[in-house]
Amino acid sequence: MTVAERVALAPLTTLGVGGAARWFVEAGDEAAVRAACAWARERRVALRVLGGGSNLVVADGGVDALVVRIALRGLTHRERGGAVELTVAAGEPWDGVVATSVERGWAGLECLSGIPGLVGATPIQNVGAYGQEVSDTVVSVRGLDTATGEIAEIAGADCGFAYRDSTFKRETPGRFIVLAVTYRLRAGGAPTLTYGDVQRALAGRAPTLAETRAAVLTIRRGKSMTLDQPDDVNRRSCGSFFLNPIVEAARAESVTARSGDPAMPRWPQPDGRVKLSAAWLIERAGFTRGERAGAVGLSTRHTLAIVAHDGARTADVLAFARRVQDQVEQRFGVRLSPEPVFWGVA
Ligand SMILES: Cc1cc2nc3c(=O)[nH]c(=O)nc-3n(C[C@H](O)[C@H](O)[C@H](O)COP(=O)(O)OP(=O)(O)OC[C@H]3O[C@@H](n4cnc5c(N)ncnc54)[C@H](O)[C@@H]3O)c2cc1C
Repeated sequence: MTVAERVALAPLTTLGVGGAARWFVEAGDEAAVRAACAWARERRVALRVLGGGSNLVVADGGVDALVVRIALRGLTHRERGGAVELTVAAGEPWDGVVATSVERGWAGLECLSGIPGLVGATPIQNVGAYGQEVSDTVVSVRGLDTATGEIAEIAGADCGFAYRDSTFKRETPGRFIVLAVTYRLRAGGAPTLTYGDVQRALAGRAPTLAETRAAVLTIRRGKSMTLDQPDDVNRRSCGSFFLNPIVEAARAESVTARSGDPAMPRWPQPDGRVKLSAAWLIERAGFTRGERAGAVGLSTRHTLAIVAHDGARTADVLAFARRVQDQVEQRFGVRLSPEPVFWGVA
């Protein structure tokens, strides 16, 4: 195993800021992942797992850890109980998996088209968009338990999936290294058409999976939410920087009252709480798309995306994010939580 030293992480993240990994290794198979864990354990060095770096903010001072970049590849499938179970290695690019499933006529992932990153990260924050979440299809997650050194096969039902959340993120961060994920898909199934933007784009049609994927990609490109637009001024981001807050019903009432707008977007949740729109709150707190503070700012096409421009540093991103949080809190009494993971940030 070749462990490199002081490897710049900025080029390995989509935000493109931050310092170096003290130690760095790329793991192309399970044995390499195990070896990396052993290396870190023996030296009492912290271990961090890197996928596509699309949900990650690395401190300017870097991260004092062994960063393991996951490069395990491969897909297999089998038919089971009238469905297709697709097992994918953690290092496969996510959108390639979606494209393959759509080409083969397997429904279940089509609305998740165009999301950057690798398969191994999809269960971590229960990746979701346009009416689907991976929790709808994850059968099991194969992970290396770094606490015991054992391989665990964790059933989807035991992953504690919630909105952009899972037990991996919430309860045991860093404990499991995802090696592979199995998704249960519907061969010949119809696309999911529950999200307003997707319904509008495909109105009056009975779209195929491929047409649904194409519509989602078009919508996403219009919001600079794909990485295939190289000249886009909004290119460097982590996607949405803030989660939509989920608050108690009474708090939602008070936020509505403070906004003075009875039409404030709000979505009742099954547990009685209410999900609010972070983008709406940010705009009503006085921010506008494209607004900049030096080398960082909001995307010109998506209020929730904080964008880094030439010369940006992580400190600038964090200061801007804090200003957004403070201003929203002062105006509405709700503190927005960031969606990305932070490395090396105090
Ligand atoms: C333009 C853009 C649009 C986006 N749109 C969406 C969207 O619509 N919906 C959505 O949910 N997200 C979206 N995201 C966020 C991001 O793409 C997803 O969260 C994605 O799953 C992150 O994958 P990654 O491989 O890049 O993870 P990384 O950023 O590398 O890592 C993220 C976290 O997961 C952990 N991790 C990664 N791989 C593993 C593994 N194998 N085992 C254990 N832990 C691991 C890391 O340690 C880290 O804590 C978007 C991001 C961008 C830049």
